[in-house]
Amino acid sequence: MVDLEIARQPWDDIPCGCSQSARHLADLLRRAAQSAEIELKGATECHVWSPVVLYSPAPAVAEVALAALADDLSQQAHEQFLELLNSLVHGEGTDLPEACERLASRGIWLLYRELALDRSINATATAFELLATLEPDRDRLRRAQIALGESLPWDYRPGMLNDPLDSSATDE
Ligand SMILES: [Zn+2]
Repeated sequence: MVDLEIARQPWDDIPCGCSQSARHLADLLRRAAQSAEIELKGATECHVWSPVVLYSPAPAVAEVALAALADDLSQQAHEQFLELLNSLVHGEGTDLPEACERLASRGIWLLYRELALDRSINATATAFELLATLEPDRDRLRRAQIALGESLPWDYRPGMLNDPLDSSATDE
């Protein structure tokens, strides 16, 4: 799925954060899916995202990251795409974070699958953070959070310091 999605995106027409065409990202993403040796978040900094702003390739890369979650990648490669998706959805900027959020919302059940498989505390916490932003059904997510129990970091559990559901409730 990740190769199909990489092939589908119009990389040549997208300006990269480094001011070249985004074509070079296609190769990077393909290699990251095959080998966990590429530190994906670091490798895409200043091309796709930065601490202050997302760049034009962000929505295309978000779609590739979602496709990667549907694939059977190594656990390490899988977690890197999950983390990248999280930094795009929670990135800075005006329209691009919203576009990434809209795209990622179509993959909500892929994120619930992360919770269900509970493969590592990092992956489970990252998927939960994404769902806290994306899932409109707060009751469903709260039930999942309670069911997860100790699979979540302690401060993400119901009523705790960083409970993502409490903070998003006060934001609204
Ligand atoms: Zn670039």
